[in-house]
Amino acid sequence: MNKDIATPNRTRAILEKYGFSFKKSLGQNFLIDTNVLRRIVDHAELTEESGVIEIGPGIGALTEHLAKSANKVVSFEIDQRLLPVLQETLSIYDNVKIIHSDFLKANIELVIQEEFGEMKDLMVVANLPYYVTTPIIMKLLTEQIPIRGIVVMLQKEVADRMTAAAGTKDYGSLSIAVQYYTKAEKVMTVPKTVFVPQPNVDSAVIRLTRRDDPVVNVENEDHLFTIVRASFAQRRKTILNNLVNQLPNGKQKKEVIEEALKSANIDPKRRGETLAIEEFALLSNILLELF
Ligand code: SAM
Repeated sequence: MNKDIATPNRTRAILEKYGFSFKKSLGQNFLIDTNVLRRIVDHAELTEESGVIEIGPGIGALTEHLAKSANKVVSFEIDQRLLPVLQETLSIYDNVKIIHSDFLKANIELVIQEEFGEMKDLMVVANLPYYVTTPIIMKLLTEQIPIRGIVVMLQKEVADRMTAAAGTKDYGSLSIAVQYYTKAEKVMTVPKTVFVPQPNVDSAVIRLTRRDDPVVNVENEDHLFTIVRASFAQRRKTILNNLVNQLPNGKQKKEVIEEALKSANIDPKRRGETLAIEEFALLSNILLELF
């Protein structure tokens, strides 16, 4: 039986054998700690019935742990140089499929139909390439694909923003976008030493669990996010000033905006960062009617 791919020695041997050089531009920081890998997989709560989508297998460190815990793993890798490596390192697992593609350009719905068929339990599990963390998560959330949730490693700073509660310094439009679709938890913080090469930033693992029903009743999601972004445009300004300055024709419609804030029971002098998602939703619904 082979040693785990992610032991420092085996990783080094694989990289040397293929003369692999890391591409910083592709966010290539590989995990070399089997305990961390096991804990990531535990947080995904997989069963023999689960299907897993992975983004960026690298040399297969996390992929092999997923293959052992799930029914099937489909993994998207952008770097062609890793394909022969993965073919060797994962050869003993017959439930892994590697797709050579930029995940951001992939048709995930189609892949799910083709690869997972009737499978009921789908999770996304990955050690993400940090240069595209937010676009990947937003793609997973907004494309309304049938997944139970997402467990991913990412920059600690972004993890803090995605999981922040209203009223805290990290709370902003990203927190609201993520928490509108999911229950968001930071489940681990991870030191730089478990990667090769070591990244410049600290890392964390978050678990996003898709909500069965939306957290709030929103009439128009695009409008909600327009209001949220406008409210956070200048964090030191009041919500009233931000909306007046940011919304189209806001200056002419100052009174309407004030009225909407009052009907939503929101003091116009509050700052955007103090508003809960429910308050933003109510405000967005009222403004949609008045504007
Ligand atoms: N899963 C491996 C591990 O934990 O050791 C590697 C993780 S590494 C942080 C990110 C991986 O994502 C790299 O293999 C990189 O080539 C790949 N990658 C980068 N951008 C990608 C994209 N747009 N689509 C798919 N894979 C990508």
